[in-house]
This record gives sequence, structure tokens and C-alpha cells, in this order.
Amino acid sequence: MTFSAVVVAAGSGTRAGPGQAKQWRDLAGKPVLRWSVEALLAAGAADLVIVTDPTMQDILGETLAGLHGWRFAPGGATRALSVQSGLAALAHRPVDEPVLVHDAARPFLTKAVVDGVLAGLETADGVVPALPVADTLKYVGKRGGESGATTTSRDGLWRAQTPQAFRRDRLLTAYAAWNGQTEPTDDAQVVEADGGKVAISAGDPLLTKLTYPEDFAMAERLAGAARITRIGQGFDAHRWGPGESVWLCGVEIAHDETLIGHSDADAGLHALTDAILGAIGDGDIGDHFPPTDRQWKGAASDKFLIHAVDLVRRRGGRLINVDVTLICERPKIKPHREAMRARLAQILDLPLDRVSVKATTTEKMGFTGRGEGLAAQAVATVETPL
Ligand code: MG
Repeated sequence: MTFSAVVVAAGSGTRAGPGQAKQWRDLAGKPVLRWSVEALLAAGAADLVIVTDPTMQDILGETLAGLHGWRFAPGGATRALSVQSGLAALAHRPVDEPVLVHDAARPFLTKAVVDGVLAGLETADGVVPALPVADTLKYVGKRGGESGATTTSRDGLWRAQTPQAFRRDRLLTAYAAWNGQTEPTDDAQVVEADGGKVAISAGDPLLTKLTYPEDFAMAERLAGAARITRIGQGFDAHRWGPGESVWLCGVEIAHDETLIGHSDADAGLHALTDAILGAIGDGDIGDHFPPTDRQWKGAASDKFLIHAVDLVRRRGGRLINVDVTLICERPKIKPHREAMRARLAQILDLPLDRVSVKATTTEKMGFTGRGEGLAAQAVATVETPL
């Protein structure tokens, strides 16, 4: 089912402690908002609007770098106005298309929850993922003249989460009818008030909203449990031929020969590209950039590497470290190693200490030893969602 989504990220989130508002805060290596957006894109959102303070637009761009299929809408003075701003930004979509409204501060959204709320829309005007209340509830305050804690029934009580699903025209109608005297705490409340039927679908304990500073400590531990580390390795070799310079790990080195190949023949970058593709199980460099395709003739191999890193990011993953070994008798690699590391760190957007370039000879043995060609090996470590 096609659906669009509005992510509300306009709050100042003062309860989460000093510093940045919670949606911008780092959670296990990436901002909370990015977790939410990646989850919605991975679940199939055809159009995604992020509602935030207009002054945060630059930071929004940085936060979501490399992700496609999202747009910005300006936040309003209240959550309800922000949601309506997000809905207005979807005006070009079919008017009765399902729209999911999600709080940015619930980062651990799964496709199962999204599928659940969408399925529920078949028979309801709004669907809320929710969990039954498990703890005994206490009312603290005056009751019957005595003040103190008294037990309150939890029968029929549920904890509402997001994303909440609606047909966009139904939600717009409900907001138009909202009296505006009070601030709704979620969108389902607005549809209820307009006489709509709201249903419950299966919530997820991991979909908890990050509200207080201590929530982040728990979320860090959950984030670690929800991700895996993968390793990929790559190998490449190119033949020496007549020339005046050679490209290795994105650096051009003056040399009395060059490496022959369809692209710039940078074996270091090719091996590394294959290592990254290997870590995410996405084929090899030849699958993505066929040598029969003329557009790659003489191409700078940075493009291949950038593409592989982009594929990692689109899966909600990130590169952890890379290690490249160049195997040749000549040219001497050592004088160029630091330039190569710096160039790789720049292309990969990694700190320098997570990028290694090494070199070895094969003591005159084999094709590299005889000076027929140069070989390169690479290993890449990648972290992705489970
Ligand atoms: Mg190659």
C-alpha cells in the first residue's frame, strides 16, 4: 500500500536535558531523527515530510545527508500546527492516501509496526500502535477527603505510540473541526473528537519515546542490540603499461608506467569498493559499473567508492573502518601513504585513524614481483541494522 509520512521534529525537547533538542541528539552514532526517517523510508514511505524549525534547515540537511525521498516543512507554534504544516506539504499526493504521523523521538520504528497501522486503516478512520498498561496504576492526590496514593484500575487502558495512520483527507477534516481551545496530545484525539473511529494495532516496547535524559542511556543499549557488524573483503589487480603516472587510493603518483584498465585503474579504490559492497552483500564493482558501459571509460574511481558508501547509508548503515594493502615492487608507496589515507578519509567521511593504507612487495615473486602488475587487497567493516 502506498503511503506518505509526516515526521514531527519541531519540539524543543527541554525534558531531555540540556544541549540539543532530543531529535538532533546523537544515538549510537547518528541523530535520533535520522533513525526515524531511515525506518520510515525502509518501510516504504513514498513521500516523507519532516516538520522542523526553519532555522534548523541546514542541520536537517546534514542530519539526513545521503537519504533521498524526504522534504522539509516549517514547524508551527504547537505540535498540532506542525502536523497541519506537514499535511499541507503533501497536497500534491492523492487526497485519500494513507499518511503516517510520527514523532521523531521514537527512533526504533519497525516495518511490522508500519504494516500494522496501515492494515488497520481498512476498517477505521485512525489507527494507533499501542501497548496494554502492565504496571499497577496509582492515583496520587485527594480522593474522598484523604490525600495519598490509591490504586486505579488499568482495565482497558493502553499506551498510545506513533506512527498513527489516517487517510489524509479524514485527518485534515478532523483538524479543521478541532475547536483549537486545547492542544491535542496526539492526532488520533483530533479524529476521535470529530466522531471518527480509532482502532489500536500492535505497538512495540522498543518504540518508546525518548523524553528524559535517562531514556538515552537505555536507548544506546537498545541501539547496540539492534545493529550488527559486517566485514567485507576485496581484491583487485591491474597490469602495468606505458605511462607517466599512476592513480592509487585516489592519489596520482608520478611513475614511469601506468596501470591499464577501463577506468583510471585505481586498484586500491577498486578493492576497497568491492570490500564495502561485500560487507552489505550487494554484488561487486562490475555489477554496479559494468566495464562494457562506455561512460566509465577513464572514469575517476572515487565515483565507485562514493556509490558503495551511499548504498551502505541507504540501508541505515555506516562504515566503521577500512584497511587497504597495495602489493607491488614499484613505485615506493610509503612516501604517498599519508596522502592516500587523507584522500580516503575525505571520500569516505571517516576520521583518519579509521583509515589504513599499507604496502608490501612479494620479494620479486609472482606477477607483482616480476613487475607485470599491481594488486590490492582491502577490508571494510560496516555496521547496519539487524
Ligand atoms: Mg579494477
